[in-house]
Amino acid sequence: MFEEITKQIKEIKEIVVVTGAGVSQESGIPTFRGKDGFWKNYNPMKLATIEAFYENPKLVWEWYNERRENIFSAKPNQGHKAIVELEKYATVTILTQNIDGLHQKAGSSNVFELHGSIMKIKCTVCNFKSSQIEKFSQIPPLCKCGNMLRPDVVWFGESLPQDVWKNAIAKASQCDLMIIIGTSLVVSPANTLPIYAKQNSAKLIEINPEKTEMSSKMDLVLRKTGAEILPKLISIFKEN
Ligand code: NAD
Repeated sequence: MFEEITKQIKEIKEIVVVTGAGVSQESGIPTFRGKDGFWKNYNPMKLATIEAFYENPKLVWEWYNERRENIFSAKPNQGHKAIVELEKYATVTILTQNIDGLHQKAGSSNVFELHGSIMKIKCTVCNFKSSQIEKFSQIPPLCKCGNMLRPDVVWFGESLPQDVWKNAIAKASQCDLMIIIGTSLVVSPANTLPIYAKQNSAKLIEINPEKTEMSSKMDLVLRKTGAEILPKLISIFKEN
């Protein structure tokens, strides 16, 4: 199958890269479902919800502050860099579930952040949004309107920003190749993106050391890490 895809590479014009926490694991950012993914003995799946936020906003803010510090000092790895290079050979759109901004830091030009950004905040009530994260004098910080500010990320159970999701579906529905990296594909609706691509007869490649819910639907599965295999995959484009 690898050879078959290699043969078709010349015809590939539109590539969609779907990424999850695993693509940043080699930059030192823990995944949610990996063995290294726990923080202070709390379950991230139970912290990243609006219910958790209202129950203990201080705890959730502390968790995001700690994650933000880790992310701020993280550098893109060979996987992120290889995806940037892919732009030399085709139109590349990245649909990422990550909130770490590492694709942009690496230099990718077309990134849709499906789950928002840890570098942004918004008000829980009014329309205030900002990318100015300062050292707040109190946690949780308050908006000028008097209500609590929160990270501008999509929590479990929340809807994705409509415009971002609409664009994501459109891109997934028109690509020739979808490369899916470092996602367990259990978070909805991002896990439906491969289905949209398949409807357009796109080839699907999964890069993940572990099996996922959708591995059986893939045309090619590479059981390697992003930093290991992406530079090799990109070299095939170079040779063609
Ligand atoms: P997940 O934690 O559910 O799954 C991570 C997947 O990555 C697993 O399938 C694992 O096998 C794979 N993986 C681990 N190391 C890898 C590597 N080096 N290379 C390739 N694959 C590797 O992550 P998810 O599917 O993205 O869903 C979790 C949610 O958590 C998302 O909404 C995401 O926004 C959020 N999250 C984001 C970050 C980040 O921004 N870096 C980090 C943790 C969680």
